[in-house]
Amino acid sequence: MTAKRKETILQVSATNQEQWEEVLATKGLTVVDVYQHWCGPCRAVISLLRKINNELGDDLLHFATAEADGIDALRKYRGKCEPTFLFYGGGQLVGVLRGADAPLLQRMIVDQLAKEKLVLEHGGQRKVVVDNELALDEIVEQGGHQLSEGGDGIIAVPASKSYTVAVIKPDAVARGEADEIITKIQDAGFEILARGERTLTEAQAREFYQRKATEDGFEDLVQSMSSGPSHILVLSKPDNSSDAVEAWLRFIGPADVDEARRRKPESLRAQYGTRTPFNAVHGSEDANQAGRELAFFFPDPRSVPGTARDAEEERVERTLALIRPLAAREDREEILTHIKKSGFQLSLQREVTLTEEQAREFYKHRVEDDDFPALLQSMTRGPVLALVLTREDAVRHWKNMLGPSDLRRAKEEDPECLRARFSAEGDPVNQLHGSQSPEEASGEISFFFPVQQTLAVIKPDAVDQHKDKILQEIRDRGFSIRRLEEKLLSRETAEGFYKEHRKQPFFSQLVEFMCSGPSVVMILEKENAVEEWRATMGPTDPDRAKAEFPDSLRARLALDVLRNSVHGSSSRKRAQEEIQSIFGEPTGITETSDEHSNEATLDEQKQQYEGDTHESNPHSPA
Ligand code: ATP
Ligand code: MG
Repeated sequence: MTAKRKETILQVSATNQEQWEEVLATKGLTVVDVYQHWCGPCRAVISLLRKINNELGDDLLHFATAEADGIDALRKYRGKCEPTFLFYGGGQLVGVLRGADAPLLQRMIVDQLAKEKLVLEHGGQRKVVVDNELALDEIVEQGGHQLSEGGDGIIAVPASKSYTVAVIKPDAVARGEADEIITKIQDAGFEILARGERTLTEAQAREFYQRKATEDGFEDLVQSMSSGPSHILVLSKPDNSSDAVEAWLRFIGPADVDEARRRKPESLRAQYGTRTPFNAVHGSEDANQAGRELAFFFPDPRSVPGTARDAEEERVERTLALIRPLAAREDREEILTHIKKSGFQLSLQREVTLTEEQAREFYKHRVEDDDFPALLQSMTRGPVLALVLTREDAVRHWKNMLGPSDLRRAKEEDPECLRARFSAEGDPVNQLHGSQSPEEASGEISFFFPVQQTLAVIKPDAVDQHKDKILQEIRDRGFSIRRLEEKLLSRETAEGFYKEHRKQPFFSQLVEFMCSGPSVVMILEKENAVEEWRATMGPTDPDRAKAEFPDSLRARLALDVLRNSVHGSSSRKRAQEEIQSIFGEPTGITETSDEHSNEATLDEQKQQYEGDTHESNPHSPA
């Protein structure tokens, strides 16, 4: 194949349906530039395509242009002037890219070609996508086409298939009933075409229930739908044996829980609903609504795997960085500056003094190494600063910045690397750690930042004025709200809750205040939730909060040291006790990382944190 020949056949041109069908019949991956008659194909990318074609020189890679005006199958693209590239494998749409973004186009071509080869050469499954920007029209018109899903893969549905969108609502998810409900759904003969977990913001919940905006109880509905994660399921009946929308509505029963219990005791809402609007599950009312709801949960074409955002973001990842004790003491600020300047986001951080046992556990794959004793000593001589760093390709970038792990080599070969620059006198071991691979990163991150639950309370002084703001902040900071109730605490509960302070002079005032009006009690969940929520609240005394952590909730909202707006458990142990005493249930989290328990350290930290060395908590609530 000469370059000249390639040039002449670079893009096959299709201007009518017949030619288009020929394009689709081509074996391999075809990258199609869809264009409008009046503006012609995208010239900006031609040299790029030629370059890629020359570099890859692959018989399975083809390029085509398609004029939307003349091709019926592309009528949905008529009148859209943004450059659009469609990727077809075996005649099926496998990717969409809008905009002439050359690097992204190149990445997608390489990526999609590799996928198509897996399909053709190794019998892999082809992931078909829907161009969601057009999906709604298609679905409404054709009564079902292809469904796709943001999480576990793409499921194609024959055009004739009837489907519905089912939601297991936050109330049932929070009670830990989702799995049981899903089993019942499957037992009842529904086919789950797609599933995913979503936490709706308040605004999204409003949009979702727009049609009920004028009904009584709308606000409660919005609150309940945005109070935590929901499970979204796309359901159908196998072989189209019955209409999925109707079958699901029958299965869940009447919206009003009392009515469901009376008339349809076997229905899901009778079994799992508690009281309106907490009726556990949702279903689309009809096929049109199912189409709208599908588009609602998957609104952005790029949220479909295999399309643009996927390619852009697939490499956004996290890595664990450690600054060992000596450097954490001497060079912390300078190292953090380097990290931030290099495009990393500091997603989580905590300072922790590891016991020898914990350090051994963390480095268990290194115990046999000659330098292990030195490493152990280096790790346990004081507080380590643990950081979760996020950016695309984080693992590789951080490793590159660190340089060789052997200090002498680092200094000789790469004197500019962080390990060479921030070595510590008197320590033969380098001062900085980074995960080796994304897999190792996820294990190491959960070692230092296990998922925890904590009890949070919006106290009576803040409920009326600041509740929404605080809830929004909780979500923005990445906490999941697992339970939420607004209630007036009884004297007995308040006394029990603060029993550790019963000898304090302010105790009776405190109990009085806590019973003076309703509180919002919540179970929050996040990695390192106990410390994270305490850092979000800030110091007990708002004057101190204003001086030291001006962004914290108490700095912004609290009235005084008594009426300080929010509460958070002070340790993991207290969190479990408080959740038990308020919600009467143990925490839903079984922390597997309890084996390498950081609890002792956390308690020490708690004392420091609550005492006068507030600075020792590295997490200034930003
Ligand atoms: P919380 O336990 O409510 O999350 P905290 O852990 O920051 O707050 P604690 O020392 O446990 O603070 O005190 C419990 C609560 O008692 C405080 O949040 C505050 O409402 C009240 N309190 C603490 N110190 C005083 C004080 N000196 N005068 C009045 N009230 C106080
Ligand atoms: Mg406390």
